[in-house]
Amino acid sequence: MSPPAAAMSEFSMYRATPPGTPGSPFGSGVAKRKDDNKLRPAVAASPAGYQQMGSPAFATGPNQNPPPTEEQGYFPPQPPIQQSEQDMNNLTSQMGAVGLGVDHQAPHHRKKKDRHAYHNIEGPGGSSQAFNGVPQRGDATQFLNQNTPTPGGAQWTSPQITPAMSQFPAAAPTFSPANAASPMQYAARTGEPQGGAATTMNQGRVDPEQIPSVPRSRDAPAAYYLEHVYPTMEHHLPPPALTPFVAFDQGNASPKFARLTLNNIPASADALASTHLPLGLILQPLAPQQEGEQPIPVLDFGETGPPRCRRCRAYINPFMTFRSGGNKFVCNMCTFPNDVPSEYFAPTDPSGVRVDRLQRPELTLGTVDFMVPKEYWSKEPVGLRWLFLIDVTAESCNRGFLDGFCEGIMSALYGGKDKLDGEQSTERKLPPGAKVGIVTFDKELHFYNLSAGLEQAQMLVMPDIEDPFVPLSDGLFVDPEESKAVITSLLTQLPNMFAEVKNPEPALLPVINSAVSALAATGGKVVCSLAALPTWGPGRLFLRDDGNVHNTDAEKKLFTTEHPGFRKTAQKMVESGVGIDFFLAAPSGGYLDIATIGHLSATTGGEVFYYPNFHSPRDTLKLSHEIKHTVTRDTGYQALMKVRCSNGLQVSAYHGNFYHHTFGADLEFGVIDADKAIGVMFSYDGKLDPKLDAHFQSALLYTTSGGERRVRCSNIVASVSEGAAEAMKFVDQDAVVSIIAKEAAARMTEKSLKEIRGALTEKTVDILAGYRKNFSGNNPPGQLVLPENLKEFSMYILGLIKSRAFKGGKEPSDRRAHDMRAIKAMGPLELSLYLYPRIIALHSLDEKDGFANENGHLRMPDGVRASFSKVEEGGAYIVDNGQVCLLWLHAQVSPNLLEDLFGEGHNSLKALDPFQSTLPVLETHLNAQVRNILQYLSSSRGSKAMTLQLARQGLDGAEYEFARLLYEDRNNEAQSYVDWLVHVHRHIQLELAGQRKKEDPDSTLTSMGSNFVGLRTPYWG
Ligand SMILES: [Zn+2]
Repeated sequence: MSPPAAAMSEFSMYRATPPGTPGSPFGSGVAKRKDDNKLRPAVAASPAGYQQMGSPAFATGPNQNPPPTEEQGYFPPQPPIQQSEQDMNNLTSQMGAVGLGVDHQAPHHRKKKDRHAYHNIEGPGGSSQAFNGVPQRGDATQFLNQNTPTPGGAQWTSPQITPAMSQFPAAAPTFSPANAASPMQYAARTGEPQGGAATTMNQGRVDPEQIPSVPRSRDAPAAYYLEHVYPTMEHHLPPPALTPFVAFDQGNASPKFARLTLNNIPASADALASTHLPLGLILQPLAPQQEGEQPIPVLDFGETGPPRCRRCRAYINPFMTFRSGGNKFVCNMCTFPNDVPSEYFAPTDPSGVRVDRLQRPELTLGTVDFMVPKEYWSKEPVGLRWLFLIDVTAESCNRGFLDGFCEGIMSALYGGKDKLDGEQSTERKLPPGAKVGIVTFDKELHFYNLSAGLEQAQMLVMPDIEDPFVPLSDGLFVDPEESKAVITSLLTQLPNMFAEVKNPEPALLPVINSAVSALAATGGKVVCSLAALPTWGPGRLFLRDDGNVHNTDAEKKLFTTEHPGFRKTAQKMVESGVGIDFFLAAPSGGYLDIATIGHLSATTGGEVFYYPNFHSPRDTLKLSHEIKHTVTRDTGYQALMKVRCSNGLQVSAYHGNFYHHTFGADLEFGVIDADKAIGVMFSYDGKLDPKLDAHFQSALLYTTSGGERRVRCSNIVASVSEGAAEAMKFVDQDAVVSIIAKEAAARMTEKSLKEIRGALTEKTVDILAGYRKNFSGNNPPGQLVLPENLKEFSMYILGLIKSRAFKGGKEPSDRRAHDMRAIKAMGPLELSLYLYPRIIALHSLDEKDGFANENGHLRMPDGVRASFSKVEEGGAYIVDNGQVCLLWLHAQVSPNLLEDLFGEGHNSLKALDPFQSTLPVLETHLNAQVRNILQYLSSSRGSKAMTLQLARQGLDGAEYEFARLLYEDRNNEAQSYVDWLVHVHRHIQLELAGQRKKEDPDSTLTSMGSNFVGLRTPYWG
């Protein structure tokens, strides 16, 4: 089976360019990679808002410090750190006869016909075959090659993506052996040896430098995609999830919305089984887009709604084909020939293409929104109603949480305290039609009439929480702009109003039930703060985790809830189209029963923001940013989701946070937002035809926050091969890791953590051994051979095993339950960061790092591996896992660096304020660099805000978190990365020798136990 032609061309490219030549991000030519890229249309717009070199802030300031020259660096050159030497010696003994080797897969020869091509990129004159499964020659062909320019043609010199351009398929780079390969052609990794997996053995030693590096796997594609678009058809291996990129929708949905684990699918279940890989799809239907991408078009077909297949109800999409002169359309899912409704008719041209095709986004784009008529409504759609439920009990008041929460709401609605006075706010934060309401609670409920005509809000107390009702019909939900004065005055006064009351115990369930009644008619979103275990009133909760069930069978019960009241309310919320986000603070580190409270969020499609040791003012900025993010991110409500796939496949499981009535029913969401992803797994109910492509369509029916009822429809296509060898070349590592992580999280309530960790280990061995057995070609038996597209897979799984959800050792059940549900909901980008943090060294920044390059793109320094052996004496590091961002400072950090970063007088670790969460704005080069880098990092993450937490060596508790996040080291009661690879390799060898026992996970773990000398990392030891 031949791969898509684009990849084929890259193959010839690889063969023409030996590994290690300039241009290879993994070879010796690293430094030159950017210069060797000949095809470099500047596409991405410059990151907005970065401070530029030469800006007044530091170009002309009187206190100007000149940029440090190399001699003046903060960090003098040092001899190699002894740590790594020791590691090497340890490794030698650990490795024994084990060798690690590169995958030298035999080059694949091009078959005579590219009959399965996604795209033929031989240029305009080249012949192109239609997608398989598209009976009419011409349609898909014309689509795919539409406007494909010759290299160097007009489109390549076009400096910007314009909306008009992205109506059409992007230009395909035409690779020929005469052109140098770009970093991404390497990074696209079609399975050819490139020197990337150079985990070599040298006289019995393993060089830790040579094992696959996660930072390297991110940096090279990130550099490439600064200058290139990702065309969704031609390159059929998406960029790594953490890589910012501009997608060109060519009819196949952007990977931001949908990622398949395999972009080439084996024809049979048996063939798939030989890979041990899951066949799954990660969907993030409302994913945020990047500047430079075409907004998702909203298409209105009036009263009839979008055309759909009569048999399987699939929505019209670019892969449906027209025949009989345009009178019939053939469904790409079930092949049923439908009549084209008269109002949708357009004739076809002689090649079978509708003449209006290019004017029809639903026939050219992979992702569109359809407006839908009344038959899709369950309620009259209205603008989203936000109901803020504010905890005003003692703990919330005393710890500054109430203050922070009120400020956060104001910031979300009006852009922050500073903008309230005088200046008119320039833009609405919520779309017109959206409304807000405010309720406070302790052991009573307080509703507020916020009507614009009032001098100030009127409070109505509802003391009867046994049987509460909503005492307001008008004035509970108001337009936030019209009632701005009333709302801001109330939110400003609330902390003082309750400072004298201070009820110790909050009631929660009756409060939520009242909120649901208030929203029953319309649906909506609840945002609720809580700072103590709700021990008052009906449905009150108890301390379930006494810390004594760790490692027992009873432990998993703590990760779920059997509370009948909370379960019933969760179901009621989904039925009413209501979802909830919680902001939970445990100021004194106390137990909150997140398993029970968070059940409401998990079931309704909401989210929990958890501040396990809330400290004001340190955490108020994070709180405020996260409330703002919750309110302003793309949010839909009253949503249903359906995933369809080609004949021969069927959905076998869903993983995520939603309500699922019965298997086969649609997934239901009270709310769904831009950050939420769902995993869908497929099984075979027959054999696929390798001559046909496999199609997938996700359809999310939802109401926008502006009050429009729509269907967000994403279409995904994959080629099909008889065997699985092709599939291995089109594995999407992030999708595989996401599916496995989501499934593991789903098992936490049924299996012990030990069993799950054991299962993750087994799965890793299965996949890598399957590859070694079936696909890797001839390698010396002692070599560990990693599939090119799964090189970092083992590290990510190790990160998962070390995550708060699954790690060994003690961990409060609140944190595990929280992280478990977070993993189920995370998109691939957020998960990638969560499983392996990005670490940036600040003491050794190049002068140009953190500023725009000649094309206006921010120049980012390379990432540092997550190991203490990489930490340099005197160093300063940013460590960001998407949930927290630490600024770790070595005890011997240069006083100059501290002053440049924090300002004059801050010349020692002790002189720093341990509770600061941002950097001051200074006129120094380093300060501007770091603020720019932080801004970049804050633009590429999930739902959690980016604020700094100081971790000063020897001074701050956050240092423990720093050590925990060094996932390549031995920590979290699990092995180091190198030891882990050795362990996995040993089991692969046993499998190959037919001697592997599928031991029960417990004994696997026990046998590994001897490696667990203790919790102490090399760093602490
Ligand atoms: Zn159909």
